[in-house]
Amino acid sequence: MDSDQIEQQIAASDLPSLLAALAHATGDPGLVPGSLWLDPDLALQPEGGWDQEQLGRARELAVSGLRKLTAPEGGSDAPNDALVPELIDWLTGADLDDGYRRMLAEELAVTGDMRIPEPITAGDWPAANTSDHAVAVIGAGMSGILAAHRLEQAGIDCVVLDKNGDVGGTWLENTYPGCRVDVFNHVYSYSGEQRPDWPEYHSSQPVLLDYFRDCARRWGIRDRIRFDVRVDSLAWDDDACRWVIRLETSSGPEEITAGAVVSAVGQLNRPLMPDIEGVDSFAGEQFHSSAWRHDIDWQDLRVAVIGTGASALQFIPHLAEAAAHVTVFQRTPPWLIPRPVYHEPLAEGLLRLFELVPGYAHWFRLRLFWCTHEGTVGALRRDPAWDGPLDQAVSRRNEETRRLLTLYLRSEFGDRPDLLAKVVPDYPVGAKRVVLDNGIWARTLKRANVELVSGGIERVEPDGVRGSDGRLHRADVIVYGTGFRASEFLMPMRVTGRDGDDLHETWNGDARAYNGVCVPGFPNLFCIYGPNTNIVINGSIIYFAECGAHYVVECLRLLAERGVTAMDCRPDAYQCYAARMDEHNSQMAWGISPVNSWYKSPSGGVAQNWPLPLIDYWRQTRRPDPADFELIAEGPAD
Ligand code: NAP
Repeated sequence: MDSDQIEQQIAASDLPSLLAALAHATGDPGLVPGSLWLDPDLALQPEGGWDQEQLGRARELAVSGLRKLTAPEGGSDAPNDALVPELIDWLTGADLDDGYRRMLAEELAVTGDMRIPEPITAGDWPAANTSDHAVAVIGAGMSGILAAHRLEQAGIDCVVLDKNGDVGGTWLENTYPGCRVDVFNHVYSYSGEQRPDWPEYHSSQPVLLDYFRDCARRWGIRDRIRFDVRVDSLAWDDDACRWVIRLETSSGPEEITAGAVVSAVGQLNRPLMPDIEGVDSFAGEQFHSSAWRHDIDWQDLRVAVIGTGASALQFIPHLAEAAAHVTVFQRTPPWLIPRPVYHEPLAEGLLRLFELVPGYAHWFRLRLFWCTHEGTVGALRRDPAWDGPLDQAVSRRNEETRRLLTLYLRSEFGDRPDLLAKVVPDYPVGAKRVVLDNGIWARTLKRANVELVSGGIERVEPDGVRGSDGRLHRADVIVYGTGFRASEFLMPMRVTGRDGDDLHETWNGDARAYNGVCVPGFPNLFCIYGPNTNIVINGSIIYFAECGAHYVVECLRLLAERGVTAMDCRPDAYQCYAARMDEHNSQMAWGISPVNSWYKSPSGGVAQNWPLPLIDYWRQTRRPDPADFELIAEGPAD
């Protein structure tokens, strides 16, 4: 490479992660000197907050690293893996303990998938046959295929049951125009299945669906999946110490059994249709965003959209381009986070560097992971010393974020005071899901064929939607971007545990699970993306699925090692855990603010969100504490 090419490559790079990758690839720790130690408080800033002098030095080092790597006689040495812990310390700039370093090394996975479980050799897992399985995984979405993969790596037979005809879960079902991942794609991917060449920083739904299909194929688990099979009920058989699973299949009802069940059914896949008067009287077409009607020719149609959450803000711009008129009914405006690369392809130079520097894509991902995971959530936590109004902000940092995001809205809508008055939220940042923006929301709302109605809805009528100001907004189609029934975990399956207890009655609308996974009275039922495992602003839910899948395998290992059949979480451990979640959630913006959000159950409690640093979930899912479980040797005592 000549000097110009090297300069161009470096200009396209993220320098801190490039230096870490070059140091790893060349084995030269001099490329990550102490003088360029990253300040963790500035980690979110481009280039980690380096000043001009530091930036100049970093560029020089990157040039020398790239020259060394690409020199005809150089670059042949294998990467120096012994440097990885030191490089992680350097890249984060933080004082990490061994656990944290290990978790980040697992995420980095630069030496391959570090989360592969040791095979379980003890124990007596029944061989698979058509109706009896060691483990049944419900759901073949992001969490379910991962669980099946980890079980397979641990040597445990499983069957995966999915109501759909393919893998992908939410990425299969949500096909609305504009659907894309709003977490950086490098982070929204499995640590052990990283893909450097994402076409965009936030790829579209078809790309995500292909990724999950590819993973299932590469992992060789497709033949373990039974598609088009709906689980109606699960019942724990005390005598057999197994779950009896009733299925609805294309050839009628069927019953299978499994020693353990992993629920990987997701939180956001049962549409919430709003309880608005007159919905059934509407004369035109109406549908929910997750059941998009691709057969409609929008050209001459007037469309009413109800909702302005993450889904609606992705599809409304497309409807505005396709339809004659769009009326947007907004009950609560979302906070917008500016993300200029939201719709951008990955920079060419970056892709070339990923090819050129071994492991660079992994180090790039790790830096995104670090910056977006722990870096932001602190701004949503209440500061007890904060004496401002809690209905607006929960800490000085939260207030500062609010001020910056309000400035962004002013910059976007300043020329339209009528819109600006409607789009600035009046609740703390983080009390509801924030939505990414690259200017498209303002451009859409300013279009002549778009109207934003924020005064509320009185009722739906045959010809359209009547606002609470009495005005009828005529519509040919209504699209509901009204979200999902997130608090109804594991619905509509009927789940009965020991003594015939019904899981939904036990929860009574407020789902809880010890470690987000286990519920007393329901032995060997393990939830992934279960209660209190949703994250709000800091990172990717795939991280939680990886922790959850690991924990499930470790629970099964415990059973095998102890020579027991089942484990049932102790009620006191469950209650203690729920109280801990409540206490911490009550200190977060989403727990403090009374604003509507899918983070809350009908009772007002927060059974959805994880309120602590991510590392805490990693630590508590390393292995089960036997003291928190009743271990059941075989059938009931009597
Ligand atoms: P949502 O965030 O729950 O938003 C639902 C919208 O519908 C809100 O604006 C809500 O208003 C409105 N609404 C509900 N019932 C209403 C009623 N009766 N009358 C008027 N308005 C009503 O749902 P979503 O947009 O589908 O997103 C759900 C979650 O899915 C997101 O938060 C995110 O976690 C995930 N998601 C992710 C992506 C991604 O890119 N990765 C994309 C889409 C969705 P209120 O705000 O007043 O309740």
